[in-house]
Amino acid sequence: MRKSLIAGNWKMYKTPRESVEFVKGLKDAIKTYIDRDVLICPPFTSLTSVAEALEGSSIKLGAQNVFFEDEGAFTGEISPRMLKEIGVSYIICGHSERRNIFMETDEVINKKVQKTISSGITAILCVGEKLEERERGNTFNVIKTQVEKCLEGIEEAASVVIAYEPVWAIGTGKTATPEQAEEVHFFIRGLIEKSFGKDFAERILILYGGSVKAENIDSLMAQRDIDGVLVGGASLKLESFLRIIDYKK
Ligand code: PEP
Repeated sequence: MRKSLIAGNWKMYKTPRESVEFVKGLKDAIKTYIDRDVLICPPFTSLTSVAEALEGSSIKLGAQNVFFEDEGAFTGEISPRMLKEIGVSYIICGHSERRNIFMETDEVINKKVQKTISSGITAILCVGEKLEERERGNTFNVIKTQVEKCLEGIEEAASVVIAYEPVWAIGTGKTATPEQAEEVHFFIRGLIEKSFGKDFAERILILYGGSVKAENIDSLMAQRDIDGVLVGGASLKLESFLRIIDYKK
């Protein structure tokens, strides 16, 4: 049985004060679960205060991006080592907004994943096709290329989570149907099995992301290969995030 992961990606929302207020509310209201982990990925400026506010809770802390060196003349960048020291245990690598707005390539994302893992942090590798790629029947090719290039050189037992996030479903209100998502998740698990073996494929978490909300979480989580979700918009409101965390299979 894989322990599921419900992750909130706050993107560029919430000041440190707003973040702490949210996290305090979350800590007070969240139930205790043994079959799922909960993760919050606030902006960099909120990480330290959220880490303090999370003390004594099992909610995990993640970052939304990272650079692939420990230190150096890289103005404006932040390293996994710096994030580790303040209690970050997950880093999102290759979110489609990083790929499309900040022009990150599979090669750069691969370096970020490698550095994240070698720093003792779990990498959440995001992959996903654009609408025109899906319409041209290219979904599986795109996903295969992204997974293989971004995981090149990774050890078998590495701590990696994959998030399948179809770009056309992110922030658009259009969710992939549970069947569409499951089809790609099943495909990704097959790719992992081919490259890393059956044991690793059975253990790796594959999250779905793209307009997840209270109304569709249960049907997504009912799918065999969906092990959790990466949630943007609906993780910014306590009520909807709590309902998503409390999904029923
Ligand atoms: C995301 O930011 O990864 C995401 C899936 O956003 P949203 O849930 O708003 O579509």
